[in-house]
Amino acid sequence: TTNRPLTDTTIHRRKTRPVKVGNITIGGGYPVVVQSMINEDTLDIDGSVAAIRRLHEIGCEIVRVTVPSMAHAKALAEIKQKLVATYQPVPLVADVHHNGMKIALEVAKHVDKVRINPGLYVFEKAKNTEYSQAEFDEIGDKIRETLEPLVVSLRDQGKAMRIGVNHGSLAERMLFTYGDTPKGMVESALEFIRICESLDFRNIVISLKASRVPVMVAAYRLMVQRMDELKMDYPLHLGVTEAGDGEYGRIKSTAGIAPLLADGIGDTIRVSITESPEKEIPVCYSILQALGLRKTMVEYVACPSCGRTLFNLEEVLHKVRDATKHLTGLDIAVMGCIVNGPGEMADADYGYVGKQPGFISLYRGREEIKKVPESEGVTELINLIKADDRWIDP
Ligand code: SF4
Repeated sequence: TTNRPLTDTTIHRRKTRPVKVGNITIGGGYPVVVQSMINEDTLDIDGSVAAIRRLHEIGCEIVRVTVPSMAHAKALAEIKQKLVATYQPVPLVADVHHNGMKIALEVAKHVDKVRINPGLYVFEKAKNTEYSQAEFDEIGDKIRETLEPLVVSLRDQGKAMRIGVNHGSLAERMLFTYGDTPKGMVESALEFIRICESLDFRNIVISLKASRVPVMVAAYRLMVQRMDELKMDYPLHLGVTEAGDGEYGRIKSTAGIAPLLADGIGDTIRVSITESPEKEIPVCYSILQALGLRKTMVEYVACPSCGRTLFNLEEVLHKVRDATKHLTGLDIAVMGCIVNGPGEMADADYGYVGKQPGFISLYRGREEIKKVPESEGVTELINLIKADDRWIDP
């Protein structure tokens, strides 16, 4: 991506292998997948089924569920069955922690993907000192032994695994060998990838999340560089952990995820905000739409308004949006005036533009179609869209 001409406005996505998670594919040139995680107790089977369904219905394509015990693993089996019987088979991911390899093996039978955190495969005692190569390797062997049955099970069932490294929970030996750095995160992921590859398992997705945006961005970039050197093509799951809530949580997530996507890095995203998971989904889709990676809603181009504005722009934008937001695929511009020409409307399909006090002009592309009184503006815009056969009833 670095040698691209500066005039190139297309996002060239990094080539990755396709990894199937149920009926959804991550990587392989497929659209960037939106995912999230329910926060119900997995033991609450009906509550979890309802939460997964709620998320799926609003566009969450893969849903993650935590599995801290064997009882939770069994509950997830029931959740899966209920979903299939009462709704549809939503691709499910189980979040499994170490010391729970039996749990992982059980849950691997019921879900489409298992997420493990390499930082939780801890065999070393905190010793606060450097590791010799022999000590380092010895622990690596233990990790391999522990991980192998899960890898084999997922491989034989054609299921997937996410190697989900978190900056906040790097294994001690990685910390002492590579530091509390993106390098430590990347090496941790690579160690697990190598184990999987040695067992001929490549349905892997990698994540390297951190709650600090610069750390997260650096970790993903370094991972891509290392994978390129090693000729690995695993898809990446992007996210900023613990982003918080509200406006800042959304901006922080976007600040981490968007620059990577803009460089073609990333095959699935999760926005982690401290609000109900349903709130994450529109943020994911907005990021993807803003970057032109997925178009799932009307794109509104609107000027910020200024002293020249000929109508109440905020109010009109709301009215236009309320009337047209169900028309996926269109670009609609709402501009306070036409002082800088129709080009300012970024080649929107339709334009609603202040013409003179009390009147607006409607545009189709760059062509001015008609002048109408402001009070009829929204109705006339709808009529124009209808005349073009691009209207569907809400
Ligand atoms: Fe002001 Fe017109 Fe520009 Fe809107 S389009 S900001 S009203 S000059």
